Amino acid sequence: MTWHSWRRAFLTAGAAVVGFDPSTRTWVTGAAQSQGMVDLPPLKGKVVTDPASRGQAADDFGHLVHRTPGAVLEPGAVSDIMLMMKYCRTHSLQVAARGQGHATFGQGQVAGGLIIDMTPLNAVEVREDTAVVEAGALWSSLAQATLAHGLTPPVFTDYLELSVGGTLAVGGLGGQTHHHGAQVDSVVELEVVTGEASLRRCSAQLRPDLFRAALAGRGQCGIITKATMRLLPAPATVRHYLLSYPSVAALTADQRRVVNDGRFAYVEGELGLPTGSAGWSYQLEAVAFFNGTTPPDDARLLDGLGDQPGDRQIQDMSYFDFLNRLAAGVAYLKSTGEWYRPHPWWNMLLPASRTDAFVEAAIKDLAETEVGASGVVLLYPFPRARLHLPLLRLPDEETVFLFTLLRTASPGAESPQDMVEANRSLYLRAQAVGGYQYPVGSIPTTPEEWRTHYGPAWAAFEAAHERYDPDGILTPGQGVFPPGP
Ligand SMILES: Cc1cc2nc3c(=O)[nH]c(=O)nc-3n(C[C@H](O)[C@H](O)[C@H](O)COP(=O)(O)OP(=O)(O)OC[C@H]3O[C@@H](n4cnc5c(N)ncnc54)[C@H](O)[C@@H]3O)c2cc1C
Repeated sequence: MTWHSWRRAFLTAGAAVVGFDPSTRTWVTGAAQSQGMVDLPPLKGKVVTDPASRGQAADDFGHLVHRTPGAVLEPGAVSDIMLMMKYCRTHSLQVAARGQGHATFGQGQVAGGLIIDMTPLNAVEVREDTAVVEAGALWSSLAQATLAHGLTPPVFTDYLELSVGGTLAVGGLGGQTHHHGAQVDSVVELEVVTGEASLRRCSAQLRPDLFRAALAGRGQCGIITKATMRLLPAPATVRHYLLSYPSVAALTADQRRVVNDGRFAYVEGELGLPTGSAGWSYQLEAVAFFNGTTPPDDARLLDGLGDQPGDRQIQDMSYFDFLNRLAAGVAYLKSTGEWYRPHPWWNMLLPASRTDAFVEAAIKDLAETEVGASGVVLLYPFPRARLHLPLLRLPDEETVFLFTLLRTASPGAESPQDMVEANRSLYLRAQAVGGYQYPVGSIPTTPEEWRTHYGPAWAAFEAAHERYDPDGILTPGQGVFPPGP
């Protein structure tokens, strides 16, 4: 028995893919032999075409866009990604990585090509003050691994069950961003499989063009396989503050004040939809870290703030419980089914000087049917100077606000299509006041508009794309560069 026939017989047992037939442009499983087939390279993992795997890869958290890939790679090692990238390049097949599939508008999908399921590549190694993390690892696993050493990544997204590669591909913003930038700003080195199928290390010193094009680069130049990230000492405990305000302007004034003086470790904010006879509510969420028995000084932290003192909610919790604070809510949304409904999300970054007026106008007549029963409206600022990566585009002002309408197409709410249309028109209004899209939402955007979005960063981005993905096979669902032939 030759190596190839042995391997084919072995793989046939699991109905895994054994090759691709360029003449019919179909993947061939062991069960269905094909004359024109080109054998797959020897892999440590496998390529599958079963309906469940392809169906999952044709969906995401948005449930709005569905493109079915021809096959899914379950890599057994990074070398599988290199080998399959080369194979796909040879056969003009498009490729995209899938972390946790929490994009909302098909950003990680490909029609007919190959999806790389990053979940098997999830190792985390904690060194002195850095973590070396495979891209498929979840932020929850990274948090637990680093906390075991008394350390923490500087910035977390609100939800921890996202992949490290998935958030580094977009930026990664959170309540610690006003101190430490986006998650991409904590990365000191990356390992990337480029679209030319080379495994490259890169950093601010080594291949800086690739480093800058991979971080917040939406998978346009390579698949991030590993990141080395800066860590900080972790607090044991946090004090969590919810402060209430009578208006957008009152909320944002205090948010700017506390973000500028840096008195809290974490600052976000949420706008609550009107309920009953009550109108909108405006809440500042902040956190102070502490260790041992010395609690934070409330008087100092709340000094000079214009919130409604009678409505203050203050509680202490462990640092991990704070990071993982969405878990109970997510379990509830799963139990009611809301978690699985379409999510036409709208996420924009606004210049501070235009934020109050823009937000007031955006929510003025906004009804619950337009954001859904479990819709969330977030609003919080950070100083632009804390963010250093060119592809995370930001308004040209000292302070920037993240404003999001996290819509859910609940029963009785507007249709997902109407919500996507509303996203588009609100995006144009935000753009007109100097806003930039944070590209995780569901806003139809043309390649020309992406070009404008990248502005002065476009030339370097395009050059890196041409250099590292010369055949244009990578991550077409982002719609940034026209796909190759
Ligand atoms: C409930 C929820 C809460 C969220 N909270 C926040 C938040 O607080 N802050 C914030 O900034 N964002 C937040 N997001 C948005 C989230 O960060 C992005 O949608 C992120 O891309 C999702 O990660 P993922 O692992 O699911 O990626 P996927 O959806 O699998 O992929 C997203 C994109 O990245 C590409 N990609 C994935 N892995 C890699 C890789 N290894 N190399 C190159 N490209 C890759 C994919 O091809 C795709 O184009 C939230 C999303 C959800 C659903």
